[in-house]
Amino acid sequence: MDCLFCKITAGEIPADIVYQDDELLAFRDLSPQAPSHILIIPRKHIATLNDAGDEDTALLGRLMRTASMLAAEAGCAEEGYRVVMNCNAGAGQTVFHIHLHMLCGRPLHWPPG
Ligand code: 5GP
Ligand code: ZN
Repeated sequence: MDCLFCKITAGEIPADIVYQDDELLAFRDLSPQAPSHILIIPRKHIATLNDAGDEDTALLGRLMRTASMLAAEAGCAEEGYRVVMNCNAGAGQTVFHIHLHMLCGRPLHWPPG
């Protein structure tokens, strides 16, 4: 499958990995939008949030829990951080393997662009 993030999980494309286990991988975004900008992905290929099923509920929860763990590790738990998952092109999704963005380390305004 020609999927960039599947290639990262397979080790075919290098990434600055900050966390991994049997289900998930987390690595630094190539084009960071904040001092700390980490992408958390499942090893399982799911193209968009629309493609996640009931069987993926726990996995989606693990993405969120891992984001909070990595935010704490980055020292952002108290000052604040943002988690974002873009779904489909109209929302800005460019890589069609679901990923949760965790951003922190600067003031994050609302609403996002
Ligand atoms: P999306 O726009 O789909 O929500 O987010 C995709 C993210 O993947 C973008 O923030 C982009 O900078 C990041 N990205 C794209 N290609 C690569 C890559 O090869 N390596 C890493 N680490 N991040 C990438
Ligand atoms: Zn994939």
